[in-house]
Amino acid sequence: MEPQLLRTAAITLGKTITRTVQTLRIGGGSAAPGYFASKLYPRLTTDLIRQFPDGCVIVTGTNGKTTTSALLAGMLRQAGHVTLHNFTGSNMMQGVASVLVQAASLSGEIDASLGLFEIDEATLPRAIAELSPRMVVMNNLFRDQLDRYGEIDTVARHWRRSFEKMPADHVLIVNADDPLLSGLINGAHGRLFYFGIEDDRLAMTKVPRSADSMFCQRCGSSLTYRRIILSHLGDYHCPACGWERPKPSVYAINIEATPVSSRFRIVTPVGPLDVHLNLPGVYNVYNAVGAVTAALAMGVNPATIRACLELATTPFGRGEQIKTGDRTVRLMLAKNPTGYNEVLRTVLFDPLPQHYFLLLNDRIADGRDVSWIWDVDFESLAGRTKSVVVSGTRAADLALRLKHAGVDVTAVDSHVEDAFHRALEFVPTKGRLWTLATYTAMLDFRRVMLRLGLVKGLWE
Ligand SMILES: [Zn+2]
Repeated sequence: MEPQLLRTAAITLGKTITRTVQTLRIGGGSAAPGYFASKLYPRLTTDLIRQFPDGCVIVTGTNGKTTTSALLAGMLRQAGHVTLHNFTGSNMMQGVASVLVQAASLSGEIDASLGLFEIDEATLPRAIAELSPRMVVMNNLFRDQLDRYGEIDTVARHWRRSFEKMPADHVLIVNADDPLLSGLINGAHGRLFYFGIEDDRLAMTKVPRSADSMFCQRCGSSLTYRRIILSHLGDYHCPACGWERPKPSVYAINIEATPVSSRFRIVTPVGPLDVHLNLPGVYNVYNAVGAVTAALAMGVNPATIRACLELATTPFGRGEQIKTGDRTVRLMLAKNPTGYNEVLRTVLFDPLPQHYFLLLNDRIADGRDVSWIWDVDFESLAGRTKSVVVSGTRAADLALRLKHAGVDVTAVDSHVEDAFHRALEFVPTKGRLWTLATYTAMLDFRRVMLRLGLVKGLWE
């Protein structure tokens, strides 16, 4: 068959699958259309991506890529880029292909000037090869779903090889506070812009248990920290060889964080931006500063950037607020030790009585091995909770971990809807139920919310 006909056939197939999945509401439909369409016509993604006049941008890293890319998408759109974005967080190549197929006409035309893609860290080398991005934004590298990807060093090695192949005019936006990232960027081609946080008041006194890359990327000695912001992120240097954190050109100072929002100043080469961000936690300050650095490098005007940050709302499952009568449910994704610790650190700021609904699943997208929960600092909750209800496919494992940490577990019920009703019973009027869930558990929970009429579907 002619390549053009084959491409049209592939797009038609992809669109048909998308429609079927939406009609039947069977969920998980964000990868299937791209997967099957690319099977039929393997050059589909490369073909479709080539027509974006402004090229494409990749956002990657273990934690925060959905929020960072959502913030950046808002800024780019406001600045006049017609941006195609894989906003549902389907961040493997099949997900990218699905978004392209959905946006394309049957003849393969896409009405967008720029592609913005959140990409899973293990997929990055393939994404760089197939998408030839003009910019890659890198947030962090944490231990995540090891059973799927192998050791973090393997991921880092593959990244390094991809960066060496990138053309010299490409832009890399890198979190300077992550020694693993700044180490592997050594020798990369392209223009480098570093971002970070410079705020000693937030600093922790010791590296948390979940930190996993505290060795010098040049000589292998232990790194010394002047300041730790979260996990292994901070201001580090190597006492043996003198290697140190690169100086960021864009960074946050004067951070005042609450459980639901934060205020801070972003210092940039074009002047400071004073920001009120409606997203909780220090980790979202990193996400915001990363997005700001990328937007500045794309030539977006600082006033536009600031306005977009003020308007930011929490993306799906990242601190989403759900009203149920006179009580509030706050849904937080917590899928690995670092992410979990930061969510706990944020929630513990909440002056309201602490009520928790914790969900742990072990499906493929969560990682089958749940032993990572032993690296989460649940000890920080001991003696501070009013109620803790545990659910999900591995509820029993989580309950055991919590008991070990000295946390009183109020109830354990693997049935999500029943467990939710029990958890809500403990929450007083005007109270908050902090719901922390792994990826598929979050989808299960949201399905319950949908059935109860408390949220709208993703496609509505
Ligand atoms: Zn060293």
